[in-house]
Amino acid sequence: MNGEKRESAGNGHQEMIPGSETGRKAAGAREKWRHLAEAFSGRSTPELRRKSPVVDLSEMTRTIAGITDEQWGRYAFSRDPLDGKFDLQQKLKYTKAANECGRTWAARITGKYQTRSPEELAQKMGLRILKPDTPTGGGQVIFAQFVQPDEITVYMDCIRRASRLAEESGCELLERKRLFEVLLSHELFHAVEEQHADEIYTRTEKVELWREPFSNRSSIACLSEMAAMSFARELLGLDSSPYMLDVLLVYAYDKEAAWGLYEEIGELIRI
Ligand SMILES: [Zn+2]
Repeated sequence: MNGEKRESAGNGHQEMIPGSETGRKAAGAREKWRHLAEAFSGRSTPELRRKSPVVDLSEMTRTIAGITDEQWGRYAFSRDPLDGKFDLQQKLKYTKAANECGRTWAARITGKYQTRSPEELAQKMGLRILKPDTPTGGGQVIFAQFVQPDEITVYMDCIRRASRLAEESGCELLERKRLFEVLLSHELFHAVEEQHADEIYTRTEKVELWREPFSNRSSIACLSEMAAMSFARELLGLDSSPYMLDVLLVYAYDKEAAWGLYEEIGELIRI
């Protein structure tokens, strides 16, 4: 999800919107929005600004609540460095499998621990939950993160800001307690991945990046994100995909960026 930063070295995972990121070149406005919008999955840069149409928050919420898992899949792939390696059919297949993975593991974990409460699950899985206001160091806006082996952090400044929009947006996912549960559930999935790395689809499914001189196979980051969203949705019994929080959490910090992201998603799902 946006607002989450993925540590590529494999030591953790954060959901965030970035504030500034040097070293990344914005290849035009499109690229800028792409980066700013990583609500649960990382990277973004407020560099080039392009005006997107202003959209009423409740209207925007209604529209994105209707986006299907397959459509969110296109969005998820669009932010994945491996996007260009796959055609639409392959992406659809991956998207379905990732969503199925999230649902299956939600059922397995709730069956194993006999609870649907994300906080109880965290406790039973031996995880610590930290609730600081904001990340230390500043710079990037991070919503939540999982750090191996056993630590989930949910940043309460994000919860507070976004929950103020609950009424105006009409989005139940933004209600304080629910929002906390959704962010926590998403991170719980990353912990599940860690604890079941040898068998969980999002870790075992790999693509060969190159063959010579040694085969280099990589997992596909956006599959983890899709599965984490699907896991949270199944666990909490949500009517819509928590992927909509990518837009809404960005909105809580930067309306222009959220409108840009909304416009981009609209283009992506019309493919
Ligand atoms: Zn994530």
